[in-house]
Amino acid sequence: MFNSAPRFGPDSRREFQTRLEAIDRRIADVCEEVGRSRADVRLLPVTKTVPADILRDAFEAGMHDFAENKVQEAQGKVVLLDDLPIRWIMVGHLQTNKVKQMVQFATEFHALDSLRFVEALDRQLARTNRTLDVFVQANTSGEVSKYGLESDAVADFITELAAFEHLRPRGLMTLAVFSASCDRVRACSRVLRDLRDRALQQNPEICELSIGMSGDYEDAIREGAIVVWIGQAIFGERPTPDAYYWLDAVPHGHES
Ligand SMILES: *Cc1c(COP(=O)(O)O)cnc(C)c1O
Repeated sequence: MFNSAPRFGPDSRREFQTRLEAIDRRIADVCEEVGRSRADVRLLPVTKTVPADILRDAFEAGMHDFAENKVQEAQGKVVLLDDLPIRWIMVGHLQTNKVKQMVQFATEFHALDSLRFVEALDRQLARTNRTLDVFVQANTSGEVSKYGLESDAVADFITELAAFEHLRPRGLMTLAVFSASCDRVRACSRVLRDLRDRALQQNPEICELSIGMSGDYEDAIREGAIVVWIGQAIFGERPTPDAYYWLDAVPHGHES
């Protein structure tokens, strides 16, 4: 696992720069190990629970893309930081009733997992005549509590997506199993890569793999990750447990 860094100190900007450089070096090393180009791996800082004033330091430390997980929290930061040219990215399941707010600020959405959501999203984007880069979320761990499409539903879903002209599907994402076992986490990456290879044959634009976080990004890159999500290794340990963000607290079909 990663060394969980302390939460923001008095000189966050310098700390963030140092941590970012260390992560960047590790990414570069793994890329070299597996013969990939560093330029093909995108590090997305995950900024949930990090307050807006600290994010100013992160921006100054060179981070310009911020990934958030809850619409309301993100919106608050968007308002407070609207003087900075930040790209806001949403990752993780959203309820359909959050779509309208989300399209006002998000430049990418990583967690498409139902047609009902797709319809609502496309409709909102049409209103403002915009397109949005989207990633389809697959459930690669088989855990019933996790969001995401079952593996064997992904191909049909991608076929149906083609009818929605305001969505630009760019790749697949998954949340790996909660496990300290690197092998089990890595197996999820492999399932996703196979799904992506099949999706590519349906739509050559669906080429990206969005996986990997602070604890497993090196293995994720070995398995072909193009987008890695890094929160705690940059911003320190979160006070909220991961289950708060990832688990399916509301049964599908019963959300308001
Ligand atoms: C919070 C989050 C991450 C980042 O996890 P860290 O352990 O902080 O690196 C990655 N992906 C998703 C979907 C998340 O919600």
